[in-house]
Order: sequence, then structure tokens, then C-alpha cells
Amino acid sequence: MANNTKKRKVVIVGAGLVGMSYAYALMNRALCDELVLIDIDKKRAEGEAMDLNNGAAFCGATMRIFAGDYSDCHDADIVALSAGVAQRLGEGRENLLARNVEVFKSIIKPVVQSGFPGVFIVATNPVDVMSMLTLKLSGYEPNRVIGTGTLLDTARLRFLLGEYFTIDPRNIHAYVMGEHGNSEFVPWSLATLGAKPLTQVCSDSNEYAMDDLHGLGRDVVEMGQRIIEAKKATYYGIGMAMTRLTQAILGDEHSVLTVSAYLDGEYGQHDVYAGSPCVIGTNGVIEKVEISLNPSEALSMSNSCEYIRSLYSQISLHDLTVSPV
Ligand code: NAD
Repeated sequence: MANNTKKRKVVIVGAGLVGMSYAYALMNRALCDELVLIDIDKKRAEGEAMDLNNGAAFCGATMRIFAGDYSDCHDADIVALSAGVAQRLGEGRENLLARNVEVFKSIIKPVVQSGFPGVFIVATNPVDVMSMLTLKLSGYEPNRVIGTGTLLDTARLRFLLGEYFTIDPRNIHAYVMGEHGNSEFVPWSLATLGAKPLTQVCSDSNEYAMDDLHGLGRDVVEMGQRIIEAKKATYYGIGMAMTRLTQAILGDEHSVLTVSAYLDGEYGQHDVYAGSPCVIGTNGVIEKVEISLNPSEALSMSNSCEYIRSLYSQISLHDLTVSPV
């Protein structure tokens, strides 16, 4: 695993818009020493590596970037999965499931067979279900499989709340939880501006109202489709979210991030991946920070997890299992 002497190595499987936005952000932040691009379209991965390498002279640190294959995962710290099909306008993330299951069946096995010792970051949609699939196909411990989950949605929410209150989004402590999709929800009872609950900020003011905040929560749910409507795809935000997650893993930061993690009793939920605040470090999910939801928020969490489980149950798992190494 990453330490001060070992080179920090990230492998990206799926060198499309999301994968390359992540790669570009990693390069600009000089977050790793070696970056490997894998894609079913090998020529595309080679072209992307050449293009990034053309920027090497302007980069703050030396970074080895190349198009590789699955054997390159054997000493990687992170394998990030952004391969597969993306949503089109008006299409739900759940529509991608069947096609992306086939994609993951072809990817996880050779990654595991390489002896990959690190942490999977899953971005492919529907991300909560694809994270569970990665867990089952790899046979790895749950802490080593992290979905980007509601990390992007949480960033979107904080941005909108920051604009609404004219406050630095980094001082807004609010989470989006549950599915990365329509059933996600915001536990408003726990959201704070600095240390002051947002419910109190609103009740103390004539300017701010909880109804407005609920509206912003709905905007977060619709944001992905609005971006797709305007420019056909979303990729910078998720690329930055993956970069933030990578920084927390490689730096063993123990940062609290809202990721899709395997729930094993937390929030009364079992055997499901869903967005919830977790402590992230070198070994992936170090701890799940179970927060106290009020009864209506707990119901939203339960409904969202039930929906994710129903999607996952559409996948037939027989003959998919790969023996852990
Ligand atoms: P894209 O089409 O630009 O890139 C996908 C890449 O995957 C392509 O280069 C393709 O050749 C490659 N690929 C396909 N099958 C493969 C296989 N079997 N092995 C290796 N590579 C394979 O798509 P994109 O816009 O980059 O989106 C990728 C995924 O990320 C989609 O599922 C999308 O829905 C998801 N996404 C997630 C979030 C999030 O918040 N989690 C946000 C945006 C997009």
C-alpha cells in the first residue's frame, strides 16, 4: 500500500470522459507517480496517454503515464472503474445496468487475477449496484470496494447551499445519502452552517426558508440530467470527486466523505451499498460514521436502500464468482 517510499500507482479502467477527467485532475494535482489507462479500445487509451504526456513538461511533478493492461494492476494502490455506457437524455441510471454488468464481468476477474492488493473506486452507473457487483465478483473485503455514491451529489448540494447563504461551501456541513439517483435524500436535521443547524439558521431569519432548501435538494437530484441536456454528458464533477477520494486513500487522510459503502447493520440496512458518511484512508473505508437520522429520514434511507436492493436483485450471480487471491 502507499507509503513515502513506494510509488503511488493508480489504474483507470475506462478511458472515456469520466476516466480522463479524473486522469487530468490527478495529473494537475500530481497525486500519483504512475498512472495506467486501460480501455477495451486500446487505441483510445494510447491516444489519451500520449495527449496527457504532452502536458508532462508543464506538470509540477514527474508522473509516468501509459496505456497498459490488467497485469499492471498487480502493484496498484487504486483501480478506478469508469468503464461502460453512460446515461443519455431522459434515461435513468438503472437503464444502464444490464450492459454495465457485462462490462464489469469482463474487467473484475483479470484485475483480481493480477493480484491487485489495493482499493477499488467504482464510478460506473448505477454506481451503488455496480459497487455491490464489484464486491461480489472480486471476493474482496467490503472496505476495499468504494463507490463514488453521493459524493458528487453532496458536493453539488454544498455548492448550491453556499450560493444560497453566500457562504464558502466548505463551511456547509450537509450530506446527500442513499442511492446516487432519484431516491437519494438530504438529512436536513443534521445539516449545519459552521456549527449552527440550518433549521435554526432558517427559523432565526426572514431571508432564508427551509422550503427553499428542500427546493435545492430537488435541484441536486435533477442536476445530472440538466447537464446532460446542455452538453450530453457529465464528467468534470465526478472526475474531481474521484480525485478527492484518491487523495484521501493515498494520503491515508481519515477524511469523512459521503461514499457508497457496504452497509452491514448501519441504519438497520444489510447487504447493500448506499451513500453514507465514511472515514476514508489507505485501506479504503476505515469506519462508517453512523449518524442519527430522524424517523422520516430513516424511512427515506430505508426506501432508498430497498430500491438499490431491488435493482441488484435483477442481476443473476451464478457462475460470476471469482476466488479471492
Ligand atoms: P464514455 O463512453 O465516455 O467512456 C466509457 C469508456 O469505457 C469508453 O472509453 C469505452 O471504450 C470503455 N469501455 C466500455 N466497455 C469496456 C470494457 N469491457 N473494458 C474496458 N473499457 C470499456 O462514458 P463516460 O461518460 O466516461 O461514463 C462512464 C460511466 O461513468 C458511465 O456508467 C456513467 O454513467 C458513469 N458516471 C458516473 C457518475 C457518478 O457520479 N458516479 C457521473 C458521471 C458518469
